[in-house]
Amino acid sequence: MGTVAENIETIRARIRAAAKRVGRDPRSVRLVAVSKRQPLAAIREAMAAGQMVFGENYLQEAQEKVAALGQVVTWHCIGHLQSNKARSAAEIFDCIETLDRLKLAKGLESRLAELGKTMLVLVQVNVGGEAQKAGVAPEKAGQLCRELQQFPHLILQGLMTMPPFVADPEESRVCFRRLRLLGEELAAQGLLGRHGPVQLSMGMSGDFEVAIEEGATLVRVGTALFGNRSPGAPKFKINPGM
Ligand SMILES: *Cc1c(COP(=O)(O)O)cnc(C)c1O
Repeated sequence: MGTVAENIETIRARIRAAAKRVGRDPRSVRLVAVSKRQPLAAIREAMAAGQMVFGENYLQEAQEKVAALGQVVTWHCIGHLQSNKARSAAEIFDCIETLDRLKLAKGLESRLAELGKTMLVLVQVNVGGEAQKAGVAPEKAGQLCRELQQFPHLILQGLMTMPPFVADPEESRVCFRRLRLLGEELAAQGLLGRHGPVQLSMGMSGDFEVAIEEGATLVRVGTALFGNRSPGAPKFKINPGM
């Protein structure tokens, strides 16, 4: 692995190539740098290389990082969010990619209304139907999207998914395609795409090129960009030198 800057360069080239293979405009794909359990120094390196969007999974860690680095970059919540953390999440994130139930939406909306702030959100869909994974079942996504229309501070932009883990990225293609088709179906019903093109967040280090070929507009890349993650709390410190 190279430096963070070199890795970003390589990933951007791979994003461009994948988009071109299927005749898509490479600028329609944004890279979300997944910085969970990566120290501030690594995030600063990515920022210096022009990376502007970061994905975090854990609220407390994200709070510390946003406090240290500020809102000059954009922070996406990509981890499961408990409803009792909705209010704090509303304060620090720019986008919640993992909205999968009404109770969470209510919590976000109430704090956002107080703050006078709108929030981009994606509905997380459990395309693989795995019991242990978060996300709304594909056949329930329409209902949730319909319910979300009542919240003026939530800007519903699209869908997000995390397919079942497989060794060969080609095996995930059917899941990515399923999310795109679901997005098209919901858009045709007027439930998505009111705020611009429908966003599809899908694809990680091992399979982001397949996801782009299937229509991803946001790819969430962690290890291919930053290298291996540190062990989890309580050992992990965002600023290990201090
Ligand atoms: C950790 C994580 C990623 C990044 O995974 P890598 O394989 O390290 O690229 C992407 N999406 C979600 C939801 C994650 O939790």
